[in-house]
Amino acid sequence: MKSNNKKLPVIALRGFVVFPYMVMHFDIAREMSLNALKEASKTDNIIFLVAQKEEHLEEINDTDIYDIGTIAKIKQTIKLKDGNVRILVEGISRAKILNVSHVSPYISADVCEYEEPSHKDSQLDLMVKKCRELFGVYIERSGRVSPEIVFGINGVNEAGQFADLIAANMEADTEDKQAILAALDIKDRLTELLRTLNKEIELLQFETQLNNTIKSKIDEKQHEYYLREQLDVIQEELSKLDPSASEITELIHRIETAGLPQDVAKKLEKEIVRLKKTAPSSPEAGVIKTYIDYVLDLPWNKFTDDNLNIKKAETILNEDHYGLEKVKERILEFLAVKALSAKSGGSILCLVGPPGVGKTSIAMSIARSLNRNYVRVSLGGVRDEADIRGHRKTYIGAMPGRIMTALKDAGSSNPLILLDEVDKMSMDLKGDPSAALLEVLDSEQNHAFRDHFIEVPFDLSNVMFVCTANSLSNIQRPLLDRMEIIEISGYTDYEKMCIAKQYLIPKQIEKNGLKKTSIRISDDVISDITDFYTRESGVRGLERSIGKLCRKSAKLIVSQEKKRVDITSKNLEEFLGAKIYTKDRILPEDTVGVATGLAWTMVGGDILFIEVNAMEGSGKIQLTGKLGDVMKESANAAISYIRSKADRFGIDPSFYNNKDIHVHVPEGATPKDGPSAGITIATAIISALTGRAVRRDIAMTGEITLRGRVLPIGGLKEKSMATYKSGVKTIIIPSENKKDLEEIPEIVRKNVNIVFVSEMDSVADFALCPPQTESVQNKEQTEQKIPFIKPGSSVAKYSLTK
Ligand code: ADP
Repeated sequence: MKSNNKKLPVIALRGFVVFPYMVMHFDIAREMSLNALKEASKTDNIIFLVAQKEEHLEEINDTDIYDIGTIAKIKQTIKLKDGNVRILVEGISRAKILNVSHVSPYISADVCEYEEPSHKDSQLDLMVKKCRELFGVYIERSGRVSPEIVFGINGVNEAGQFADLIAANMEADTEDKQAILAALDIKDRLTELLRTLNKEIELLQFETQLNNTIKSKIDEKQHEYYLREQLDVIQEELSKLDPSASEITELIHRIETAGLPQDVAKKLEKEIVRLKKTAPSSPEAGVIKTYIDYVLDLPWNKFTDDNLNIKKAETILNEDHYGLEKVKERILEFLAVKALSAKSGGSILCLVGPPGVGKTSIAMSIARSLNRNYVRVSLGGVRDEADIRGHRKTYIGAMPGRIMTALKDAGSSNPLILLDEVDKMSMDLKGDPSAALLEVLDSEQNHAFRDHFIEVPFDLSNVMFVCTANSLSNIQRPLLDRMEIIEISGYTDYEKMCIAKQYLIPKQIEKNGLKKTSIRISDDVISDITDFYTRESGVRGLERSIGKLCRKSAKLIVSQEKKRVDITSKNLEEFLGAKIYTKDRILPEDTVGVATGLAWTMVGGDILFIEVNAMEGSGKIQLTGKLGDVMKESANAAISYIRSKADRFGIDPSFYNNKDIHVHVPEGATPKDGPSAGITIATAIISALTGRAVRRDIAMTGEITLRGRVLPIGGLKEKSMATYKSGVKTIIIPSENKKDLEEIPEIVRKNVNIVFVSEMDSVADFALCPPQTESVQNKEQTEQKIPFIKPGSSVAKYSLTK
């Protein structure tokens, strides 16, 4: 290869390479390049063009440029406005830098110019052919090379020149182009070219693929947009024809103006999109519309202002209810705490007591005193979790649960919700409603309560929950732990009288459109109603009877033009019909095998009789009267105790071999359970086996142990009230219940003897009449031997402990 040395000014190229035979123009701006240009113009406009190794370098040295470049002729220079110069150059030949003499004010280098060798062989031809082929593919894929250039390249026969022209006219990295330029050997040059062509073709292929994917995505979007626009237009047209189609527009408007939390609004917008896609008459459209309607109807961000004025609240509470001091006190405390701290979550009151004692109505008055909206949710008979938490929308006829429905009805996010009869909830295969209720009442969880139907969370932490129950025994422990229990026991006759006079009568007079002056109900009437027409702890029956009196009076006033109706004990039966109960319910005489016990039922206390027959037989024991397991066990314990004490009571010790014992508790259809009839059963059995009658005026209650100890019982207030009303003169109760004496109403304490016992032996001694052979005088002596609390006396001194 021939060579020729020259000293030339150098222009460093950034990001491109100039090949021999190539004509191109580019702009130069750097001082050193402009100086080199000036230097070249002084001689024959020949310059050495060489690529910079790193494109971004502004200031360069001799080491920053490649050593092989192209000697070129400057054909034209144009000064640009910004001070730069545009030059047109034509590549002449390859040259290699031998030595850089200086880099400032321009780079000057001694270069060795190479003359292009020209030789041919078949291998070279093959490579040229391959290059042509690949270049054809490149042109086709890139579409960047003009037909004239292709034509020009095809006319070149010289392999080296051919390679240079292709390299000059394709797009490739500076490094790749430089490698082609640096290949002085033709075969090497063609190899480099083939490699670069292959690489570029691959890149083009990838680019095409990429473009196709992007394009298809854009197409899809455009398609969807187009369809949506069409849908909107169709819907608008339809709404003109059919007014129901405008429902959607209305729903959208409601969503926008309801002040919904962001996630809720988003969810509803999604549902609207679904609704638009569904045929308006399809059942699914109905479900979606109901859903949207329901969510919109919930009181999002709607609150009532709490009344934090304690004095005012107290007045309201007293206005509505007599007594109930504990409940009223608790409500005022709640208000006080609320007034001091904005957030007072976690207060769930549970009012427990027999029916008609005012649990529901006090809850209403709590709401009134707090200025909160009131809703009642009845939980009686709820056995399905979905009742509380709703059904999923996928169910046919799905609805939200009772809590969400209550909130919708309340119309505010902070109402008072009364969960009535929590103890009547039960469980079945469809899940446990109390588990769902737990979540509702748990202040840790209820800020984001999720109803299955509503799907979006609702904050229940501002709701005040008040529960009611008749008894605590049926409420599950975890639920109970979350509540603050306030017990409301039954009312005494005196309390009932006060309630009737101050509240129930005025209420019923107003309700039935009467004037205060048009009806007079005497106090005796109220006593008679409580004694002969109702048997209850609360005042519901009393209120109903008063209502009946008012209605009947209204009829008299209207039909007979009476000015005033006087209701007295004498004419009461004309209004209410014959008396339902008799006051004295005790047995007409002392009877063998029948003992009077005390029971606590849902409606309050009552007396019950336990009957025992002992017959010749083989030791069989029969228990009837729908007795629960606990009561049956009590009966068995009583029999075992009697067997162990047979001698003491003068009973034939082999009675369990030759006697059959049948224990029966009348009103057999009513289920009875509990251990508190233990001593009564034992007394009746002893009476049956000894033939000694049980005193008719004594009633008793207490659990019995195998060894004859008497254990305490509950519900003393109700039980003692029942004895007093039924004409019992003496009640026997366990010594350990002394602490509950306060529970017994004063009127009962004044009129009934109370006897405390700790052993069954004493019960039998006290309650059984002397053997029939003994004289009446003897009976009185027994009575005197056993101390008891005389009516009205202090109790602590007297007890029958052994
Ligand atoms: P519960 O929910 O305990 O079964 P309710 O709240 O339904 O009882 O009460 C029955 C009726 O008795 C209601 O009209 C109620 O106003 C009235 N009532 C109960 N207790 C009182 C009371 N202490 N003072 C005034 N009215 C009462």
